[in-house]
Amino acid sequence: MQVIAIDGPSGSGKSTVSRLLAERLGVARLDTGAMYRAVALLALRLKIDLEDGELLAGLAQKMNLQVDERVLLDGDDVSDEIRTKEIDRTVPFVARQVRVREELVRRQRSWADTHGGGVVEGRDIGSVVFPNAALKVYLTASEAERARRRAVERTTDDAAATGAMKMTAEAIAERDGIDSSREASPLLVAEGAVVLDSTGLSVDEVVSKIVALL
Ligand code: C5P
Repeated sequence: MQVIAIDGPSGSGKSTVSRLLAERLGVARLDTGAMYRAVALLALRLKIDLEDGELLAGLAQKMNLQVDERVLLDGDDVSDEIRTKEIDRTVPFVARQVRVREELVRRQRSWADTHGGGVVEGRDIGSVVFPNAALKVYLTASEAERARRRAVERTTDDAAATGAMKMTAEAIAERDGIDSSREASPLLVAEGAVVLDSTGLSVDEVVSKIVALL
């Protein structure tokens, strides 16, 4: 089983790069961020105290979740619902709960077993989930570039995107701050990971660099 771990902060291009990389290699891809987002969605719907790790872990254990190009939670397509600003704000609090992580990591490892490996993207993939990954990439980009990408991703017209950029930069910095400083599996460059700065590079160029590393 060969896993390619793609970790990095928000807006570093992980999703786009992972998708194209998996396509080029003809392997499966798992977006682990979507899994934490699904738990955050359940927590918001049920108005659960975000400090209640046991209750949140219970939700994670019971949910029926399928993460593919679309994300199906208990049979409903929640692909768009898990990408709102409210979820962005909530998800790092859910993700810092050790018991939630245990359950999701278990599911991620079982996904890899079922699929015979693949491209797995997240924050702790090379450090915790698959420390023996065939290749570990820590993808990053300048703060301005990450804010621009996130804003464009979420807005349809350019003017609105420019307006959204400042706010996005602040929101990204806040989320990355929580993700990097938490006790459980913080965002960091895993041992043996190759740091790849995608600022100014096209998706194709980044993917080619990763393929060359393989
Ligand atoms: O990748 P994405 O931005 O969708 O991730 C959403 C959030 O899920 C992250 O900000 C982080 O709090 C959490 N996450 C995590 N570990 C992962 C993937 C995501 O803690 N492997």
